[in-house]
Amino acid sequence: MANYAVVGLGGSGLSAVNFLVKQGHDVAVTDGNFPPLADKLPQGVQTYFGGIDGDILLKADRIVISPGIDPATPAVANAIKHGVSVVSDVQVFIENLKERDKQRGTHTPIIAITGSNAKSTVTTLVGLMATKSGKTVGVGGNIGTPALDLLAIDGIDMVVLELSSFQLEMMSGLGADVATILNLSADHLDRHGDMVGYLAQKLRIFDDVKNAVVWLDDKELARTCIAHLPKHATMISTSGEIGEGFSAEFCLKGEHGEQGEKIHLCHNGQKLLLADEILIKGKHNLLNALSALALGHAVGLDMTAMLDVLRTFKGLPHRCEFVADVNGKVYFNDSKGTNIGATISAIDGLGAVYGEKSLALILGGQGKGQDFTELVPFARTFADSIYLIGQDAKLIYDVFISDDELANRTHKVFTLDKAVEQAYQSCAKVVLLSPACASLDQFKNYGERGDKFVEFVKQWTN
Ligand code: ADP
Repeated sequence: MANYAVVGLGGSGLSAVNFLVKQGHDVAVTDGNFPPLADKLPQGVQTYFGGIDGDILLKADRIVISPGIDPATPAVANAIKHGVSVVSDVQVFIENLKERDKQRGTHTPIIAITGSNAKSTVTTLVGLMATKSGKTVGVGGNIGTPALDLLAIDGIDMVVLELSSFQLEMMSGLGADVATILNLSADHLDRHGDMVGYLAQKLRIFDDVKNAVVWLDDKELARTCIAHLPKHATMISTSGEIGEGFSAEFCLKGEHGEQGEKIHLCHNGQKLLLADEILIKGKHNLLNALSALALGHAVGLDMTAMLDVLRTFKGLPHRCEFVADVNGKVYFNDSKGTNIGATISAIDGLGAVYGEKSLALILGGQGKGQDFTELVPFARTFADSIYLIGQDAKLIYDVFISDDELANRTHKVFTLDKAVEQAYQSCAKVVLLSPACASLDQFKNYGERGDKFVEFVKQWTN
């Protein structure tokens, strides 16, 4: 039995404590704050709250660190310097799953998904596809259920893991049956330093991988992924560019007919499904559908079942979610658009449908070191007006007013209720909340921000 220290008592920290205690290890837990989950801790756990305790970290054989805590935190960095091993709860999960498989002579396939955006959408889709194919599947990690809780699922025969760069940073030797980096855009640079550091963590998802889904349209990302695949890994390619021929194993094909262009999702040249049959809209969601199919195919899920899921999945809340259409003005909640890449895909996707200068765009919150100038060309084309909220409103304002065209369309309003009020009064056809920032300066999380948006929209439109 070993001495474990768990750093950070959120949902995944508590799940790690419970698991380790049940296994008979000595467990201490420390957190910089006084976490509300403290009263849920099992008996016999030592606690050090209100500051991360460096001493208990040094005494530990192993530290399980929560994704929210930077391993550069002095007490943690010091423990690492002294040779203490620091891992994510997902690492502990993988080790135990593999050990259990070994004892039982079974193999539980692991599907691992990361990326800057679309992780939750694709993870949820693959989970539903596995269920529809008759599997008892555990879906978790960075979404919903903490990884270690999946071990308690009776008869589990497949695992779908959403992994963040913070979790991957503290993992090695994952050995997934299939893994993917869906896409890459600037996010979390406040912690990873730069894009090279951020990508380096994500690439760990390919450690010992058997199959990799590689998205070909971002050539630089594709090249880097391919270069990092183990020698014997099989690559499955995807492409969301609408072509006449077939550019990738899973791709889109456009056909001109009497009623305009018809787009099909295809596999190895065979048409699978008409894009119009998919309920989640936008170019980016067609790509998400292809990614989910490619991942499911790699572990042998049933194609008919997978296509059925695509025909019925309505999308997750707070992701370009339709809120209301009031007197021809349409409101969309994309509160989960917490980085530049997500917000660009929302502006571009809705802009393509509603036209130039159609959007009243609500942006801002807590930035993460991203460069807001990337938003300028998209805002210039598709925004009628821009309302800036939160801690980094001024930062975005300074970037936008240095563009001649955006200068008189950009307004600092600071709070979400003011932004909704002014967007409601604007001439725009569409009001879009897609902040390109985290919510934590003004809200509990992106969910609360989205719920408040819906509440303010209802207030103004009733
Ligand atoms: P994650 O779990 O990676 O944050 P989500 O599925 O929750 O991903 O989506 C987050 C945001 O990214 C949403 O605002 C959504 O509209 C946007 N998005 C979804 N798919 C894509 C994609 N393929 N490329 C870029 N942005 C996307």
